[in-house]
Parts: sequence; C-alpha cells; structure tokens
Amino acid sequence: MAFLPFYIPGRKRLRIVIAGGGYAGIAALTTFLRHMPEADITLVDPRPWHLKVTHLHETFRYPLDDCKVPFSELERRFGCRHLSARLPLEEEALLQWQRDKSVVVDGGTLEFDYLLIAVGAAVVRAERAENILDLNDFMDAGGAGLLRERLDMHGHNGSACISVAGGGATGIQFLFEIAHFLRRHGLDARLRLIHEGKRVLDGFTPHFSTYVQARMTELDIDFHPDTRYRGQDAKRIFLEECKTGRRFDLPSALSLLFLGIKPERLFPANAFGQIMVGDRHLPNVFTAGDCSIHRSPGSDTLTAQSAVRKGKLAARNILRHSGVLGWLEPYLHRDLGYVVSLGPTDAVGWLALKDNVVSGMPALVIKEMVEAQYDLLLTGVDTYIP
Ligand SMILES: Cc1cc2nc3c(=O)[nH]c(=O)nc-3n(C[C@H](O)[C@H](O)[C@H](O)COP(=O)(O)OP(=O)(O)OC[C@H]3O[C@@H](n4cnc5c(N)ncnc54)[C@H](O)[C@@H]3O)c2cc1C
Repeated sequence: MAFLPFYIPGRKRLRIVIAGGGYAGIAALTTFLRHMPEADITLVDPRPWHLKVTHLHETFRYPLDDCKVPFSELERRFGCRHLSARLPLEEEALLQWQRDKSVVVDGGTLEFDYLLIAVGAAVVRAERAENILDLNDFMDAGGAGLLRERLDMHGHNGSACISVAGGGATGIQFLFEIAHFLRRHGLDARLRLIHEGKRVLDGFTPHFSTYVQARMTELDIDFHPDTRYRGQDAKRIFLEECKTGRRFDLPSALSLLFLGIKPERLFPANAFGQIMVGDRHLPNVFTAGDCSIHRSPGSDTLTAQSAVRKGKLAARNILRHSGVLGWLEPYLHRDLGYVVSLGPTDAVGWLALKDNVVSGMPALVIKEMVEAQYDLLLTGVDTYIP
C-alpha cells in the first residue's frame, strides 16, 4: 500500500461510488486502489467502456477500438464493479445523497461512504442529417470508415468539398487528420475550415495560429475566419460573416462540426473537491473533471490533465476525510502544457509557460509521453507527480 501524506487510516474498507468512468473517474479509481486496495468501488457509467477521447481524431489511422478500454477489463484488473447506468444529476438530489449516503440508480439503491461525481461534459449535439457529423458520431464509429461511407453517399461521384466548422483544438486535430487521410488514400476532396474567430486556436498565443495556418496553406486547406456556420443541406453549406451578418453559401458535400463541449451540469466545489450547495459543502460528495469548478487557484480548464489531477486529488481527500486526522489538501494544480496534434508527424504546443511554444517532432514527442503516462495509469502504474 503506497504512502499518502496526512493520512492515518480510520477504516479499512470504504464503500465508494464513482459516477463517470472518464479520465477523472479512472484517475480516482486507481488512486483509491493504491492507498486502500480493499476499497469497495462501484463505477456507474452508461457506456460499456472507458473512452480515451484524446485519441479520437487518430481513428483516421487506427481502429476506434484502440481508444476503448472495456469496463469489464477494468473490473478484472482493479477488482471494482461497473454498473451500466446514468446517475440522475438534479441539484435537489445532492442534499438527499449526502443525507441518505445512497443513490438510486436504475431502480436499485447503492449505499456509499463517499460519492464522486465525475460525469464530464457533453458534446453539443449538431442537427441530425447524414451529411452533418459531430464528435458524437466519431465516438460511435471510427473516422476512416465514417468519412469514406459519407463521402460515398454524398460526394456526388466527383470532387467533393468537406467543411470543418470549429478551429479550436479538437477541430484542428480532426482537420489535419482528415487532410492526411484524404492524401494517403488519394481521395479527390477539398477541405475548408470555418471558424468564428479571427485566427485558429485563438485560446492560445498567436504563435500557435501562425504555425497552424501556415501548415493549412501547405496542405491547401481553405480558411474562412470570422465566419459562423449556419447549416448544411444536400449540396451546400450556409454561412454568416460574424462582423457584418452577411449570409452566403458554398458548395459542400459534408459538414463536420466541432463547436465545443459543454458540461450538462457544472458542480461547484470547495478547494478540496467537496461539492458546494449554496455556501455549504457536502462532506461525503465530491466532484472532479470537466463537470467540476473548484474554488481554488487550481486549473479548471476542460483538459484531460486537469481531469486526472482533480480525480486523483478527490480520491486522496476522500481517504484523508475518512482517516483519523481529517486534513485535506487544496486543489492547486496548474496546467504544465498543452499540445495540439497536426496529423501523424506534426504538432504544436506549449510547455511550462504559455509563451514557450514547441512545434514539430519535439511537440509530438511530448504529446506521446503525456498519452503514455495516462496509458500506464490505466494499467495501475501511477507516474504522475502529485
Ligand atoms: C476529441 C477530443 C480531444 C481532446 N484532446 C485533448 C488533449 O489532447 N489533451 C487534453 O488535455 N485534453 C483533451 N481533451 C479534453 C479531455 O478529453 C477532457 O477534458 C477529459 O476527457 C475530461 O475528463 P472527465 O473525466 O471529466 O470526462 P470524460 O472523460 O468525458 O468522462 C465522463 C464519463 O462520464 C460518463 N457519464 C456522463 N454522464 C453520466 C451520468 N449521468 N452518470 C454516470 N456517468 C456519466 C460518460 O459516459 C463518460 O464515460 C479532448 C477532448 C476531446 C473531445
């Protein structure tokens, strides 16, 4: 059993319910088992597998199954239990869960000593049409097969135009993978990017945009900045200039929308990860990941690294709360970097300081290392520095 500072165990076996088996939930699970191997852990998640969503754009090169880790495998590996269900997220329920120390899931009652809510953020659903895809579609089917299928259906047997809307990190990662996929397979299709901002990746320093936009030019990708997506019909995409409101349309066989993710419910937490209802915290109900916002200087960005740190911190604090001392640790994690991949051989990112921009192979290596660290965590090997 690994040593945890400020933790003198009070109980040998806690009953813990984790709602959400994403990055935060899995990081919490492995942390519990490191420090309390006998813990009785139930993971509630409607999916049958943990999805390594940060690899999703790579499904233009690898099968989608490579991004999935079945919960049944995690059950065997970690001795936990998976319940395929969705925890209802009404706010009124929080006080009741704290009072009853139980949740009702799919008609059954689950008793707990501690509950961790790590349900992530939902992807904004695009309107449904066969030639409009969003991130949800890529969670159900691999990119390569999906794009080929839709091009066959809507590519009109000639040179097709594919529109990607959203020049944030996710849109850019998909855009470059698609550009390389089309080239690799000799598919006759043009790519364009629609973005509401003046420059791509406008959440990062301008060096990012300069680098990425230069690579887009090299790959012959059309760029429409300051432009809002308005819709797509059988053959055309409908757009609006953000500044003037002028509407226009262009030929487009397919639209791929990466317009952001939004937490269905955002749970405010104190600095230790305990959920706040008004100005009172719930001692036994914690939250972590994209669905949480902490009252502390720690990073609340919607990133896997913040989700992992919050998940691990929630688990450590749950153990400490149950222990003899009851001293908890505040959430202080600052992001150490972020890398956006630009296809199989290129990337751009920052490391340590937001102005310290790295690109090309060094950036790609950093991304691989970060992903490898998470893959190790999934096998129970924790190489994160607390
Ligand atoms: C395409 C893409 C690429 C990304 N790339 C990067 C990257 O390179 N680097 C980076 O740092 N971040 C990246 N991110 C962001 C990162 O993936 C998220 O910040 C991270 O997944 C958040 O982890 P989480 O555990 O909070 O939520 P998630 O990983 O989304 O997991 C939430 C889990 O909760 C389950 N759930 C939902 N509702 C309920 C409910 N009511 N009851 C029970 N379970 C529920 C879901 O099924 C899911 O398994 C990317 C995101 C996307 C979409």
